[in-house]
Amino acid sequence: MQYISTRGTAPELNFEEAMLAGLARDGGLYVPKTLPKFDSNFITSLGHLSYEEIAFKVMKPFVGEVFEEVEFKNIIHQSYSKFVHQSKAPLRQLSDKHYLLELYHGPTLAFKDFAMQLIGQLFRTSLSKSKKRVTIIGATSGDTGSAAIEAFKGLDAVDVFILYPRGRVSEVQRRQMSTPSAINVHAISIDGDFDDCQKALKDLFNDLKFRDKVNLSGVNSINWARIMAQIVYYFSSYSSLDLGGEKVRFTVPTGNFGDIFAGYIAKKIGLPISKLIVATNQNDILHNALISGEYVRGIVNPSISPSMDIQVSSNFERALYYALKCNADEVSRLFSDFALTGNFKIQESALNNLLTHYSSGKVSEDETSETINNALKKYNVEVCPHTAIGLKVAEDNMCDEVMITLATAHPAKFFKAFESSTGKKPVMPKSLSDLFNKDERITELPNNLDQIKRVILERI
Ligand SMILES: *Cc1c(COP(=O)(O)O)cnc(C)c1O
Repeated sequence: MQYISTRGTAPELNFEEAMLAGLARDGGLYVPKTLPKFDSNFITSLGHLSYEEIAFKVMKPFVGEVFEEVEFKNIIHQSYSKFVHQSKAPLRQLSDKHYLLELYHGPTLAFKDFAMQLIGQLFRTSLSKSKKRVTIIGATSGDTGSAAIEAFKGLDAVDVFILYPRGRVSEVQRRQMSTPSAINVHAISIDGDFDDCQKALKDLFNDLKFRDKVNLSGVNSINWARIMAQIVYYFSSYSSLDLGGEKVRFTVPTGNFGDIFAGYIAKKIGLPISKLIVATNQNDILHNALISGEYVRGIVNPSISPSMDIQVSSNFERALYYALKCNADEVSRLFSDFALTGNFKIQESALNNLLTHYSSGKVSEDETSETINNALKKYNVEVCPHTAIGLKVAEDNMCDEVMITLATAHPAKFFKAFESSTGKKPVMPKSLSDLFNKDERITELPNNLDQIKRVILERI
């Protein structure tokens, strides 16, 4: 399997190279050159398999021959060994047609662990063969950073620098990033919002001299391997329901458009999905883009669902690439306009194409709190604010098809929002028990590229 850039001018790479590269050298994102196709027999046959077995079958065509079969199976087993729930991604029935897909049983209590644990093992295997070192830089609204630090801490061949917006992540998220003692991981708080962090990250990648000097690699959802890992739970959840080919809908709490884009690829390679529903908080650039056809950068407004406080969604570029029928020139043109003006208009045929796959809903702060409370009363289930946003949008969009809402994080990770909404404390998982007694290690920097570069060069 080969990978090409959404902007068309970066070199074509195999899976391993695309994974290690992160962002393409032309500023675009890697996508598979061709897509595999799974038929209904394949999907039915997954029903009796373990999560790891499904993961192997679904991901194998994307990985190609770069890892041997036994090696790749071992990587997958290692990756999901730290999940506390036996089925890794259990489905909980809420009502006749509505299910909650619990993606928060990994080591840092958010869905990011599904991809990050896998990437950690893939990098470890790959770098131990090549004897190379890489510098990983990540931008996070909270959960990517903690998942990356957990997955890469202590790895010899990797230094990890995570940029997060100071004061805009939850206390648990911050402590998960700042308390690991491994010397190869660095939490850096930036004086800015998530979009500033993500912009700094992209600027570091686009500085090709710096990029080559430190052997830069990225683990944000710009990295194709993350998307690939997330396709798996769309398949595992669908096949566990034994629906005989019936179409379903997924509602996905969305920020950087990575998780929902994995659902789109699942659909494209054969999973019977009728609609993917984008659920956003008050930072609604995606909702607006789908309603109006105008993609317009806004200012991030901090919310109680901080992992979705994003106004420039990296993976929307991949969605547009497919909506534009893989026209890389047009994608390049739109994103160079966007870099200059902060907006672009989606052409009508592309917008219509997007609307056949996606719809959207937006949830206010009050509605989010209300839904956290309602979920407890109505379904007896504790949800985090992001999941509540998904639940609200899903409930507003129920029809006679099965709906699966992605539960993206554990409520304990956002216990303040949970407490203020319900008046109760969420159940605290064991993994959090000593987090509050450990020392924190954080480097505070202004939103300044030169200073970020200097810190990285000093520490690798
Ligand atoms: C990252 C994250 C999201 C948004 O996912 P994207 O792939 O960025 O759209 C939603 N909820 C939680 C808890 C997250 O950590």
